[in-house]
Amino acid sequence: MRMSKMYLKTLREAPGDAEIPSHILLLRADMIRKLASGIYGFMPLGWRSLRKIENIIREEMDASGAQEILMSAVQPAELWEESGRWHAYGPELWRIKDRNGRDFCLGPTHEEIFTDIVRNELTSYRHMPQILYQIQHKYRDEARPRFGLMRSREFIMKDAYSFDRDREGLDKSYDAMYDAYTRIFTRCGLTFRPVEADTGAIGGKGSHEFTALSEVGESEIAYCEKCDMAATVEKAECRDCAPDPETVEMLPLEEVYTPGTKTIEEVAGFLGLPKEKTIKALMFETYDDDFNVNGYVAAFVRGDRDLNMIKLVNALDIPEHAIAFANEDKMGPVTGSVGGFTGPVGLHDCTIVVDSELTGLRNMCAGACKADHHMINVNYGRDYKADIVCDLKTLKEGDPCPCCGSPVKHTRGIEVGQVFKLGTKYSVPMGATFKDENQQEHPIVMGCYGIGVTRTLAAVVEQYHDDYGIIWPLSVAPYHVIITLVKPGDQAQRELAEKIYAELTERGAEVLLDDRDERPGVKFNDADLIGIPIRITVGKLAAEGKVEYKLRRESEKAEISADEAVVRALGLIEKEGRG
Ligand code: ATP
Ligand code: MG
Repeated sequence: MRMSKMYLKTLREAPGDAEIPSHILLLRADMIRKLASGIYGFMPLGWRSLRKIENIIREEMDASGAQEILMSAVQPAELWEESGRWHAYGPELWRIKDRNGRDFCLGPTHEEIFTDIVRNELTSYRHMPQILYQIQHKYRDEARPRFGLMRSREFIMKDAYSFDRDREGLDKSYDAMYDAYTRIFTRCGLTFRPVEADTGAIGGKGSHEFTALSEVGESEIAYCEKCDMAATVEKAECRDCAPDPETVEMLPLEEVYTPGTKTIEEVAGFLGLPKEKTIKALMFETYDDDFNVNGYVAAFVRGDRDLNMIKLVNALDIPEHAIAFANEDKMGPVTGSVGGFTGPVGLHDCTIVVDSELTGLRNMCAGACKADHHMINVNYGRDYKADIVCDLKTLKEGDPCPCCGSPVKHTRGIEVGQVFKLGTKYSVPMGATFKDENQQEHPIVMGCYGIGVTRTLAAVVEQYHDDYGIIWPLSVAPYHVIITLVKPGDQAQRELAEKIYAELTERGAEVLLDDRDERPGVKFNDADLIGIPIRITVGKLAAEGKVEYKLRRESEKAEISADEAVVRALGLIEKEGRG
């Protein structure tokens, strides 16, 4: 491609709403254009890189035995009603109506559609296993679209669905997808970690997130250096502390005056107690399908712990959007709670969820459900009971690893993909069944497997950039080589550049020829910004048949013959071009 003819408008500065490097650089390099909040289009360079990622995904999915199809992004509401998600999905579901008032949505994911396809066709055990996938635009009306392609409202996803006769079959399909994902993200050049992920109400060890390590990532990961435990903080189990021995006597419950001590720090300080001897209360209200408050929840954890919201919603078996912090002025009259002074004793008409370790701790301090007062010597069983007891704690950095006990570490990452054992979550309500050898009917056992294709593009930029721009790995670079022609008017330079361009192109390299009538500084800056991995500069030395050869990822430059530059470039492309 000759840059003099190319549709490219690089920017010196990114618009003010771009905060993270990938967002800034993809805009500045004119790879993406913003159309509306969370809605982006792809310009020639961005589209080329994106298609490279798609092709890596395609090659690896096909190699795993999965088959590509393409369904519509527009989905009829009826299917979502059958699965029960028309309501459960909440406001992220982008609902639309046709001219006759019939409900549809723009697909955020396609479990319903794929289950619908197979339900009348995979009717015998002989028809399975099957894995179908597609690469397609998805729509989610995210509450906070941000960071460009990272969390957008329209994005490209590869979604795959596996269909098996039993759990063993599912395990095999899952492992095949897990391995394919490992190859895909490796070929894209990403440094990533598969981590155990939350499976919501389904539970079990049925999901992994593939997380590209990055400071700007929204996933927090807990991992252990001693054993191989790695999980999202949402999912990570947190061990209970040791219970107090039975010999610790339960002291008489006592109300104490604790004026103005609304936080755990304040009350612990005021009473001279360690935070570990206190109980932290968190109040929530829950909503029905029409977003009316339908109940209150009080969650209790030890004073030094943090509540894990995902564990709470799983315990309650409600969707995340159906719960929020309570309006305490409204909750108080119903339940007896008092902002800043709520404790489990005396609370009524709400669901009480207690972290499991509290049940083994004696003589704790908690709010008295009375302004400016706390209770001391609060004991589970004697003074209060719970509707639900479970692990509600967030595993914090330094806490003991749930597997081996050594202190855990935290890191951040970008969730680029997820693999998930669905089991019969969709096949049962949607009636997708098959007959076994004995004509017995069973629900199909399913898995689903997503990759955020556009998010992966952004994740690569997060891991590969410097102050000057993007540093594409060869496997996903929009072009392999950029030939910077310093003076297009100089005949020797022009001829040599054209010769290299022709030779490289003929031998399968993807080459940009910067033949624009611009100052050399502008050309070098653009080359760095758009991040082409190999730069061959044709300048003053052209008369001697020499060029400057430089890799974007290295600072060294070599003055070598044009022939040698061609050989080197082709060698590197051969080695790294496919990833
Ligand atoms: P998140 O927790 O980031 O919202 P998710 O759990 O909702 O992700 P999935 O439903 O598993 O995501 O979707 C599969 C993949 O699609 C994710 O792993 C991610 O890479 C990508 N993805 C999800 N939401 C978005 C979005 N709003 N913008 C871009 N990519 C997304
Ligand atoms: Mg999401």
